[in-house]
Amino acid sequence: MSATYYEIVRQLRQCFPQPISDRVHDAYFGHAIMQAIDQLDALKSVTPVLGQQVTLDFNAARESRIAEQSMSLEDVTSRLVQHLSGCFIWGHPRAQINVIPPPTIPSIIGGLLPSIYNPNLVSEESSRQVALAEVEVTGMVSSLVGIDPRESQGIFTFGGTGTLLYAVKVGLEKCCPGSARSGLRESPVIVCSDRAHYGCRTVASWLGIGEDNVEIVPTSPENEIRTCLFESMCRQLLRDGRKIACIVATMGTTDAFGLDDIHKLREIRDQLVEEFDLDYVPHLHADAVIGWAWSVFNDYDFTANALGFKHRTVRALAGTQRRIRHLSDADSIGIDFHKTGFTPYVSSMFLCKASDDLARISRDPAAMPYLFKSGQYHPGKYTLETSRGGGGPMSALANLLLLGKEGLRSLLGHLVSMSDLLAEHLEGHSATTVLNSENFGPVTLFRVYPDGVDTFSIKQIEQQNPAHRDQLRAHNDYNRRIFQAIQSEALQGRGVVISQTDCYRETDYGEPIVALKSYIMSPFSDEQYVDAVLQSIWQARERIKAE
Ligand SMILES: *Cc1c(COP(=O)(O)O)cnc(C)c1O
Repeated sequence: MSATYYEIVRQLRQCFPQPISDRVHDAYFGHAIMQAIDQLDALKSVTPVLGQQVTLDFNAARESRIAEQSMSLEDVTSRLVQHLSGCFIWGHPRAQINVIPPPTIPSIIGGLLPSIYNPNLVSEESSRQVALAEVEVTGMVSSLVGIDPRESQGIFTFGGTGTLLYAVKVGLEKCCPGSARSGLRESPVIVCSDRAHYGCRTVASWLGIGEDNVEIVPTSPENEIRTCLFESMCRQLLRDGRKIACIVATMGTTDAFGLDDIHKLREIRDQLVEEFDLDYVPHLHADAVIGWAWSVFNDYDFTANALGFKHRTVRALAGTQRRIRHLSDADSIGIDFHKTGFTPYVSSMFLCKASDDLARISRDPAAMPYLFKSGQYHPGKYTLETSRGGGGPMSALANLLLLGKEGLRSLLGHLVSMSDLLAEHLEGHSATTVLNSENFGPVTLFRVYPDGVDTFSIKQIEQQNPAHRDQLRAHNDYNRRIFQAIQSEALQGRGVVISQTDCYRETDYGEPIVALKSYIMSPFSDEQYVDAVLQSIWQARERIKAE
């Protein structure tokens, strides 16, 4: 005979945290988490992967069905742990893959605590002091980037793309007021560089602006927007009677860590507002999801260099700070703690310099009759989301408290110095070239060449000379093969896992340039792992030569 519903409910009660203090049960809860951590630990090896990477069987996965009977908590845990098998360990010194950080322990706890009690950031009524955490983080980051914390407002959202969505939405209401209600009757544009994130297009599509109305400004070889072309393009757009919903400055491009000159962009914008006597000011957004963290160097004395960075590193950090210190010129800023702030996904903040701007995208209160009865903090009046979890702000707060400016400076400085070291070696070798040597982040983009290529001149030739199209394509293939060879070695625990980008940027004649990419994000990275990258490059070259 099967159990009655009530017996089942009684058993299931053991699977919830107890509502009234029960120390024995707390120990069980803690033990359940420990068990998961133990099982994950057993998946670790010398490789930067948990367990093994196997071919994923999505057809079998599609055959999954919910069972009649419930499963024990322990068995569920084991099943969940299995699902992490094959994941990269981003914090492994042999992982230099992408701008994905290993989360710190406090930031993991920051994500865990709200997942136990489910505060909802729709309003202070349902999130209490977790709402304060969001405001505290806003205060800390506002002052860090140099904007007035009494004027600003920050809201956590579903990723860097979400921060862009908010920026353009606010910008739309500035250039076409009332469009939230009436829909778009004009055809405004978004202006960004050719190295801006594809999220700009996503947002244009989702907001009904249309991807074709994203105006792309070319970049310099340093992957920075060409400000003179920006100016002439904007002038032409305004002459044509187009409205500018948003100017997106990319402060840390995804592949190469290029940094737009936002100060200049703002000057040009202000001048055009005057010149054309515009009745609105085009919204200027800084997509600083990667670069924001370098704000900790705004008040670092590079001359005294108290933290003892190497000379080359000081130069690199100062080279970034020279652009990042102008973040405060933006009307809004996109910040990903889950990129250069060492938190779990998702922890992204849309930081608006003037909180009044958010009122522009506020909903009609009559639409939300059951919410916002008391208190003063009700982000749900203008957030896209209704329910918003507390994990984002809590894990961000955890790391801001844990690291402080000095901790973040040291971590970033270390990553940059490791990446610098790699670049130095690659520049010194006759078979490799560094593509983004003028960008000063933790990422190195490079190409490897077969014997007999003059790597002193090849970079420029491939970039500019269409007569070398076939050669460029052959070298693209060569770099793909090098990547495959390095990858298969690294998954065996030899060498380092790096990544590859199919289009670092285009040549002047429109061909994509393939690049290998080392993105150093692990605090455990050290010189020996930089050497390991070089070793695996030379081995990959030998292997391809032998084939
Ligand atoms: C990663 C990235 C995004 C998208 O952010 P997510 O947090 O991954 O959604 C947007 N812009 C830039 C420049 C990025 O590098």
